[in-house]
Amino acid sequence: MKKVVVTGAGGFIGGHLVVALKKQGYEVRAVDKKPLNQWYQVTDGVDNLVLDLTLRENCYTAVNGYHEVFNLAADMGGMGFIETHKADCMLSVLINTHMLVASRDCGIVRYFYASSACVYNGEKQMDPNNPGLKESDAYPALAEDGYGWEKLFSERMCRHFTEDYGIITRVARFHNVYGPSGTYDGGREKAPAAICRKVIDKELYGKGEILIWGDGHQTRSFTYIDDCIEGILRIMYSDVTEPLNLGSSEMVSINQLVSMVEDIAGTAMIRMYDPQAPKGVRGRNSDNTLIRQYLNWEPSTSLQEGLKHTYTWIREQMLLDKTSGTGDFKRAKHFH
Ligand code: NAD
Repeated sequence: MKKVVVTGAGGFIGGHLVVALKKQGYEVRAVDKKPLNQWYQVTDGVDNLVLDLTLRENCYTAVNGYHEVFNLAADMGGMGFIETHKADCMLSVLINTHMLVASRDCGIVRYFYASSACVYNGEKQMDPNNPGLKESDAYPALAEDGYGWEKLFSERMCRHFTEDYGIITRVARFHNVYGPSGTYDGGREKAPAAICRKVIDKELYGKGEILIWGDGHQTRSFTYIDDCIEGILRIMYSDVTEPLNLGSSEMVSINQLVSMVEDIAGTAMIRMYDPQAPKGVRGRNSDNTLIRQYLNWEPSTSLQEGLKHTYTWIREQMLLDKTSGTGDFKRAKHFH
């Protein structure tokens, strides 16, 4: 039986990946630095380890006796986090570096690295009508400061570990992944979850205003978690040696995203705008020519459908928070 390690397994994407790998019959070791009771999903029959993977010796413990690695561990979050924690984001370089070294020394044969659309050159993302970022648009390099540079550097380290040491490495550049069992509050959440939460706040706590970061005309594409997991597995077990976009090409503005969530909730919010808030690039979309060409596949879940599942899950969590009495406290910090 194939033995695989998933790092960042206590987080959003890692948690879903463990579930998928377990279903497919793999023997899975799940690793995260968070205490187990803070993991988004804990799967039965998995070797769950709590380890800080910035430390080299912990990476050896994590991979020892296993065959393959999915490295998803990183100190990250939405724009509100990465624009204000650039050093923390760059320190994730220790995780990938030590994981690659340990993988090389312990005989890992295949290694997946979770990169990001934040590696793309900022000058190619200044127009909200972004035609889609091609993989080659990462160069000449002008990545998102902090987080994006770390991802680009780590991508290249994977490439050179393949060239110099023969480990098979695969790299996917995720574009804004969203879905159930993810972060929806606390400061690391991304736009879809944050907007769902703010709209649900109206129903549960009577707050009818929504604060939108920037002017709301900035554009993005959002990738549903099921597509992301399928894409990770397809890319990992493909022959494609270069980094590939793993993202939806359904681009919307943040204003449109708010309207979609309002439609799902059957409500309308009073929109306020904060031009000083972290906004990121002006326009970003995924060009899927290469993934279609190589894998004859691309993410296909519509934003409408993915948002419905996400909204329903976040609402359930917020209802639980409210019933248990933690909601008022948690919500208080979200009102601006
Ligand atoms: P997440 O924050 O939910 O999960 C990351 C996990 O890594 C967390 O549980 C965290 O505790 C763990 N971690 C952080 N530092 C660690 C350390 N030193 N040792 C062990 N574990 C550590 O994030 P996610 O959304 O699931 O993202 C997974 C990966 O995908 C990350 O590498 C992220 O950069 C990348 N990515 C995500 C998105 C997205 O939209 N979610 C987009 C682009 C790239």
